[in-house]
Amino acid sequence: MGGVTRTAPGPPPDPHTLRPRLPSPLQEIEDEPFARLGIRLVLKRDDLIHPDLPGNKWRKLAPNLRAAAAAGDRALLTFGGAYSNHLRATAAAGRLLGFATIGVVRGDELAGAPLNPSLARCAADGMRLHFLDRARYRRTGDPDIRAALHDLFGAFRVIPEGGSNALAAQGCAELGRELRGAADTVAVACGTGGTLAGLAAGLGPGQRALGVPVLKGGDPHFLGGTVEELQRAAFGGPRGDWTLDGRFHCGGYARRTPELDAFADAFEDRHQLPVERIYVAKLLYGLTTLAGEGVFAPGSTVAAVITGTP
Ligand SMILES: *Cc1c(COP(=O)(O)O)cnc(C)c1O
Repeated sequence: MGGVTRTAPGPPPDPHTLRPRLPSPLQEIEDEPFARLGIRLVLKRDDLIHPDLPGNKWRKLAPNLRAAAAAGDRALLTFGGAYSNHLRATAAAGRLLGFATIGVVRGDELAGAPLNPSLARCAADGMRLHFLDRARYRRTGDPDIRAALHDLFGAFRVIPEGGSNALAAQGCAELGRELRGAADTVAVACGTGGTLAGLAAGLGPGQRALGVPVLKGGDPHFLGGTVEELQRAAFGGPRGDWTLDGRFHCGGYARRTPELDAFADAFEDRHQLPVERIYVAKLLYGLTTLAGEGVFAPGSTVAAVITGTP
């Protein structure tokens, strides 16, 4: 196979031709652990933005796709783990808008194995998958690895792991602007922190953003530094009032505990709402714990951003 070549009739269309549901709906729910403390809980239903590019993946990718189209780039290369929602969303965007896509996947032990459902979906959407061992994956910014990728795939535009760059944070600022006046605290689950960086920047005065990291290595100080860097790149400096609470990772990325599962099952039962388990379950679990600790004043409103679908 040679480099990525695709002859399309014109530049890829603007992502808004995919008719995203924006602003996303805001849904108030009556949830006993909050209601009995006099706290209003509202769900920001970003999961409903687009069936193939749900949640923050739409908000982060759309400005990057627009920039790629404007620059005449026809191929996108990005990075992720074997279950990455970001890889899936990038692959879907490629299919829908006519970009070639290349997914660099962490873990070369996966190369010979049958694809898991998430990677199979990427492949079905036309993404070319390239597996790297963990040591090389950590060095994907190094010139020798970039050169090797260019030898394999030709010209491409790089979107970083998790899709978090300045454009992504700017896209997520719109999430904050949609929530102005709607809540005192807005909480979001964090992977790379790009969504929190933008959300906090878009909120109005007096509102605060709370990030719940789902990674254990998500040492809040490290992730906090990333959020600061993204805000500097996207907005020129610190923006908004935000904090991280690193207590709810439940053992690390994609790890779960019996308590977390029981909580998510019960929440689904109470509200007939399927709960995405890698991010959203930990967010709701964390918020419910914080409410019980008396962190939110009676009479206040807490918004939980539903960033994705199961
Ligand atoms: C990717 C993702 C996140 C994490 O977003 P970051 O910007 O990387 O912090 C949160 N929730 C869901 C459902 C996701 O897919």
